[in-house]
Amino acid sequence: MTDIPVKEGKKYELIIHDIGDGGEGIGEIEGFTIFIEGGIPKDKLLVEITKVKKNYALGKIIEVKELSPYRIKPICAIADKCGGCQIQHIDYARQLEIKKNKVISNIDRIGKLENVLIHDVLGMNEPYRYRNKAQFPIGMENGKSIIGFYKKRTHEIVNIVDCSIHHEINDKILMIFKRIIDENKISVYEEKSGKGLLRHILTRVSHTTGDLMVVIITNGKKLPFKEKIVNELIKNVPKVKSIVQNINIKKTNVILGRECITLYGHDKIVDYIGDLRFEISPLSFFQVNPFQTKVLYDKVLEYAELTGNETVFDIYCGIGTISLFLAQRAKKVYGIEVIEAAIKDAKRNAKLNNLDNTEFFVGKAEELVPKLYKQGLKADVVVVDPPRKGCDKVVLEMIAVMKPKRVIYVSCKPSTLARDLRILNELGYKTLEVQPVDMFPHTTHVECCVRIRRKE
Ligand code: SAH
Repeated sequence: MTDIPVKEGKKYELIIHDIGDGGEGIGEIEGFTIFIEGGIPKDKLLVEITKVKKNYALGKIIEVKELSPYRIKPICAIADKCGGCQIQHIDYARQLEIKKNKVISNIDRIGKLENVLIHDVLGMNEPYRYRNKAQFPIGMENGKSIIGFYKKRTHEIVNIVDCSIHHEINDKILMIFKRIIDENKISVYEEKSGKGLLRHILTRVSHTTGDLMVVIITNGKKLPFKEKIVNELIKNVPKVKSIVQNINIKKTNVILGRECITLYGHDKIVDYIGDLRFEISPLSFFQVNPFQTKVLYDKVLEYAELTGNETVFDIYCGIGTISLFLAQRAKKVYGIEVIEAAIKDAKRNAKLNNLDNTEFFVGKAEELVPKLYKQGLKADVVVVDPPRKGCDKVVLEMIAVMKPKRVIYVSCKPSTLARDLRILNELGYKTLEVQPVDMFPHTTHVECCVRIRRKE
């Protein structure tokens, strides 16, 4: 380990040039990567090395030599503690710049691709109050209930009175719950012992209709003061359309259990993306930033260049939102997804929107795509939207076998995207342009939509 240029306990000066996935600053000493909690690009810092690993080191700030001009005072008073946002203390325009640079460096370094047009990130005009789903853990502090988010990298709860990325109505709902819990001494769940009743409050709000769903997650079936909770919510939150109890008695980090009991109103709420209607239940997956989802899907539609005669494969289709979006302009769309419940939702949503030119299949993409191809199905356009680990190699190889003219890659992780684009390039598919979209302002995430064309 003699070629590592830093030592534990020693101090060094460096300038932060990038941000890691957890929001930590990244700098270098003689080309060796150093992660600094709390550092942001253009900070000049004196740091002490706290841990040295084979390929990187960790350090802490000893002194700020020059503060980055990108720093702003976050809107949220508890931004430095709360694990919900990682980079609220960076000016929004700079956040978008940092995200674009992350995409560029991955395409260069990992993708080794040339002549790719990488656009500016499409951000939000109003990058606050965008989330339509919130999940708040409940705890106790000094004999009083607290509801909020987990602190960074812990399971300690930060009490929330006003969160700037969720809908305002959540503040009121949390206040009602805190009051009822304290007045009636309802027990709250304790992670260590697995005892206590109330675990989480989950809310979903439709930004298009204003309809609201409140889900109370309990460690057991009995819910004392049920009527009181329901009545207080109806009285104070006029748009509440659904109140559901969800039972989760497992000692686990997974928030929702399987069983739902509707306490008031419907068991689903309705939301729209563009003209498409969706019914959302407590357990359904649904994109959490509806405004930017529309922006992203419009880009997919543009890159698909549909005329109405195409057969489209939407691989990793989830609840079929992209499939349905494209089905409005294509001859036929096949959706492929591994989670059975998601495919059930996709089929129901297709019916709800009268899009009978769609078909959905449950299974692993790497097994289903070869099977469907053998059965004679072929794609003119392929869309892939894989999880963070990217596409299975078989899926990429099958694209080369099916020979669609156009491929659109939707990605939530630039590094695996770049790796897959490189493979596609070797398989005869050229990456033309990349459009990053900011789906999650104030976090380090960046989504990309990529236009890929079969080489002549
Ligand atoms: N296109 C969807 C979301 C895609 S997220 C939308 O826009 O809403 C990625 C999806 O890939 C998830 O739904 C996940 O369940 C699914 N998935 C993960 N591994 C898979 C595999 N091996 N085969 C098929 N689907 C898979």
